[in-house]
Amino acid sequence: MITQTADIVVIGAGPVGLMCGYLGQLSGLKTVVVDKSEKPIDVGRADALNARTLQLLEVVDLFKDLYPLGKPCNTSSVWADGKFVSRQSAWWDQLEGTFHKHFLMLGQSYVEKLLDSKIKELGSAVKRLTTVDNIEINQKGCLTTLSNGDKIQSSYIIGADGSRSFVRELFKVPFEILRPQIVWAVIDGVVETDFQKVPEIIVFQSETSDVAWIPREGNIDRFYIRMDTKDFNIEDALAKINRAMQPHSLRFKHIEWFSQFSVKESVAENFFVNDRVFLAGDASHVHSVNGGQGLNTGLADAFNLMWKLSLVLKNVASKNLLHSYEDERKPVAQSVIESSGELVRATKFSTSGTHAQDYVRIVQKRAGNITGMGIRYGSDGLIGTRLFDQEVTSDGTKTRLYSLLDYTKFTLLVFGDLKKNLNVPEFVNVIQIKDDSVYANQAILVRPDSYIHSVGRLDQMEILLNTLSL
Ligand SMILES: Cc1cc2nc3c(=O)[nH]c(=O)nc-3n(C[C@H](O)[C@H](O)[C@H](O)COP(=O)(O)OP(=O)(O)OC[C@H]3O[C@@H](n4cnc5c(N)ncnc54)[C@H](O)[C@@H]3O)c2cc1C
Repeated sequence: MITQTADIVVIGAGPVGLMCGYLGQLSGLKTVVVDKSEKPIDVGRADALNARTLQLLEVVDLFKDLYPLGKPCNTSSVWADGKFVSRQSAWWDQLEGTFHKHFLMLGQSYVEKLLDSKIKELGSAVKRLTTVDNIEINQKGCLTTLSNGDKIQSSYIIGADGSRSFVRELFKVPFEILRPQIVWAVIDGVVETDFQKVPEIIVFQSETSDVAWIPREGNIDRFYIRMDTKDFNIEDALAKINRAMQPHSLRFKHIEWFSQFSVKESVAENFFVNDRVFLAGDASHVHSVNGGQGLNTGLADAFNLMWKLSLVLKNVASKNLLHSYEDERKPVAQSVIESSGELVRATKFSTSGTHAQDYVRIVQKRAGNITGMGIRYGSDGLIGTRLFDQEVTSDGTKTRLYSLLDYTKFTLLVFGDLKKNLNVPEFVNVIQIKDDSVYANQAILVRPDSYIHSVGRLDQMEILLNTLSL
C-alpha cells in the first residue's frame, strides 16, 4: 500500500542529498530525503568550499550562515628542510567576476547541519535511521519501499547515497573503479608547534611530497599524510609529519578526527537511468581528495539538477531537459577525476624530485576545476559560462548582482534600456541594470544555476525569451 506520494525521493542525506532536498523545497516541490544515519556528521571529511560554491550558496541564501564560520584561504606554499621555498595565489587573485577569490576552509559537518535544519524548518525533515529496500519503476514513476515498510510513490528518484551507492547498484549502472594504490591518513585537531602557523595550504617537500597542512575553521588544523600502506597507526602518521617539518616539530594537543582512505577513481557510466533515476555526488563520481573537489562537485550536481526537475515537474519544460544533466555533469566529473588524479600522483612521482613544486604548478594549471570558476557548459562564447558577479544598482540601491538572482527562476538581465510590453513567462524575472558592466548593452538570459543560457542585443529580448522553449 502506498503510504506517501512525493515529487522526488532523495536517497542519502550527505551534503549532496541535503542540498537536493533543500533546493527542491525552495522550488516548491514535495521532496522526501531518506538516510540510514541518525544525524549529520559531527567531524571530518571535506574541508573546503570553493569560490563557485560560495557564489551559489549566496543565490540560495545559505552564504550568510556559513561564511562567518569558516576561514578564507587562497595561498599555497612550499617548504623544504625547514625553509620557505615559494608561495602562490595567482590563480585566485586573477579570478574575475567574483567577490570571493579564495577557498572557505570549513568542515563538511557545518554544511550538513545547516541544510538539515533548513529542510526541517521548511517542513520536510530527513527520514533518518531508514534505508531503502527496493525501488520499482512503474507507470507513474518510482515506487520506493523503505526499511520501515513505508512505500513512497514519486515521479523521480535521486541516488545521493555516496560512493557505495545502493541506487547505482540496483539499477546496474557500471562504475569501474581504478585504485592507484595510494593511501592517505588524515588528522584533524589542535596543534602545538614551533613552526610559525599561517592560514595557508602548506605542502612539504622531502624525499617525496607526502605531508600537507590545511588550515581549518576555529583553532582546528588538518594534516594529510600519504602512507603508501593501509597498515599504520597514528604514531606512524605523526612521525611522518615531524620528519617532513624538520627541524621544527609538532604535536596534537587534541585530536578531533583520525581516518584513512585509499584513493579510488571512477565516474558512473550513466547519471540518469530509466528516465526516472538520477545519480549525484559521490554516487556518480569518486576520486582523491586532492584539490578539495568532492563536496564542491557534488553540490554543483545538485544545483544543475534541481531547477531542471522543477521546470519539468511544473510542465514548463519538456522531459528532454533532464538529459542535459548527464550531458553537462558527466564531462565535469571526468575533468575532476583527471585533475585530482594528476595532483595525487604528483605527491608520489616526480622526474625532477620537486614533488611539492610540481604539485602547486598542477594546482595552477587545474585552477578552473579547483576554484570551480572554470566550469562551463558548452564552448559557444558567453553561452554556458558562469555569470560574472559585480556591483550593480538596482531600484536605486547598490548591491551585488548575485544577490538579485533567484534559484527558482530564470533571470533576464537587461544591461541598458528595457523594452516595453515584453511578454515574460512566469518563471522569468526581469532585472534592469543601468551601471557600466562587462555585459553593457546586452540582454543576458541566466539559468537558475547562474550560468548564461543565451545572449543578445537589447533589441533581441523577445528572441531570447523564445529560446526558453526548453
Ligand atoms: C577524508 C576525506 C576528506 C575529504 N576532503 C574533501 C575536501 O576537502 N573537499 C571536498 O570537496 N571533498 C572532500 N571529501 C569528499 C567529500 O566528503 C564527499 O565528496 C562528499 O561527502 C560527498 O557527498 P555525498 O552527499 O555525495 O555523499 P556522502 O557524504 O557519502 O553521503 C551519502 C549519504 O547517504 C547515506 N546512505 C548511503 N546508503 C544509503 C542507503 N542505502 N539508504 C539510506 N541512506 C544511505 C549515508 O548515510 C550518507 O549520509 C573528502 C572525503 C574524505 C573521506
